[in-house]
Amino acid sequence: MPALPEYKTRVLLENHGVPLVPAVFFNVMPDVIPKPVVFLKAQIPGATSRAGRGLVRRASTRDEISKGLSELLSEENCQGVLAAEAVDIKKEYYAACLLDFGDGENLPGGVILFSPDGGTGIEGRTDSLTKIHFSLLNPPSASDIEKELEDIPNSPELADFLQKMTSTFIGYKLTVLETNPIAVLEDGSHIAVDCRAEFEKHAVSKKNAELFKVPESTVDDSTPLEKVVEAINAADPAGTGFFRASREKAPEGSIAVATNLCGGGGKMLWEMTTGGRDDIFSLNESDTSGGLSGFKSYRILRAIMSQPDAQVLILTGSGMAFQNQYHLASAVWKALKESSTPLPCLLRFGGTDQEKAIELMDTVSKALPVKIKTFRPEIFPNAMVEHLGDVATDHRIKQQFSPEAGEVAFEVVMPPARFVYHPEKNPDNTEPLCVKECPTGFLKWSENRITSNSDAKCIGCLVCETVSLLEGNGELTIELDLPEEVL
Ligand code: SF4
Repeated sequence: MPALPEYKTRVLLENHGVPLVPAVFFNVMPDVIPKPVVFLKAQIPGATSRAGRGLVRRASTRDEISKGLSELLSEENCQGVLAAEAVDIKKEYYAACLLDFGDGENLPGGVILFSPDGGTGIEGRTDSLTKIHFSLLNPPSASDIEKELEDIPNSPELADFLQKMTSTFIGYKLTVLETNPIAVLEDGSHIAVDCRAEFEKHAVSKKNAELFKVPESTVDDSTPLEKVVEAINAADPAGTGFFRASREKAPEGSIAVATNLCGGGGKMLWEMTTGGRDDIFSLNESDTSGGLSGFKSYRILRAIMSQPDAQVLILTGSGMAFQNQYHLASAVWKALKESSTPLPCLLRFGGTDQEKAIELMDTVSKALPVKIKTFRPEIFPNAMVEHLGDVATDHRIKQQFSPEAGEVAFEVVMPPARFVYHPEKNPDNTEPLCVKECPTGFLKWSENRITSNSDAKCIGCLVCETVSLLEGNGELTIELDLPEEVL
């Protein structure tokens, strides 16, 4: 989800009457330096742990402010600097509003998370969180919230603050809104000292588009693998192939998981599974969906598997995919055979041809050099992750794959591929099974050779190669080019 930096989140809160610490935003060096004492905070979307990274500084003199502003404004992806007044804080609270997918006790809606101990290190104090579930259609009033906070002194002011925060969250259809800390001042008033929000791009209404607009970055911070996936998409635009590497390192002791999530359902299930867990670290975000070919699934998978720190691959969709799961399983099998650093996998297939997909993986998994566990769609990712420890590895296997030489029968431009015929594996010179199994009739047997039918189209399903290798003699193989960054 895109993240809104603090200076933009403040505008949303202000519009709903949430009191904020006084602050001024600078996106260029000002002519007049503001009065001391201030905290200077770099505004970088998605940046966390800012204090530890030197992106928040206390400045007491005009020289310090001038130097801090100049340095922070030159940070990569910095949209500006917020100069916030220093205030005397009597007490700090933590509060967040999140979307809640519901459970056995609560319907889907929103949830307020509140802790009487705000400030840094809240991640380690999740036990102290009070949860107040609410309906998005019928949000709680301040007095409803106050009843849930009966142990907190001055709770009417706090309840009023949280009600306004909830109204901001619902009003702008946010997915996350966090205020940390909420400062209680000497006079008992409550103000937001720091805040951030996350949102879903498609949920932003036209009238609010400007508020959520993030300035175009002039710096291309794409990783080499992200550029590889961009190139794969450019060469084969049909269907979604999305990949973004995490900019953070896996915490010590966690399992580093490379993810191939198929569609919004797969992503949602994975986020619900891993949200709040620090023992599982997602190395990347991903989405393969929208009718992409098996060729493209293979290429994206190879890029995902090339992440050097990965210990295991997880692949899951919603469990009801239209994407043919047998074609996807063929892509997984090919990627595991041909990658120089194949990953152990937890694979969940659900949707069209799921039984064939599961059967294929069961057939081939014993011959693969890595552990594979395959799951039916009834098993959700929260149960799958119980198996992470059984398959994840600290020592990636290295293997060498060289495509077998043969005759290039023909090439396909879209989706791009080279089809290689191995006549020595078809000594009788009879039509191989893979030709009959091509679902579109694109393959044909003519003059004792495999060739293509110009009246039909190749959909890049990989069925011909899978059938040839499993049920034939390997008469036909497919070569799918990849850039050298892919291992
Ligand atoms: S030739 Fe036929 S079976 Fe082979 S990938 Fe193309 S559509 Fe699929």
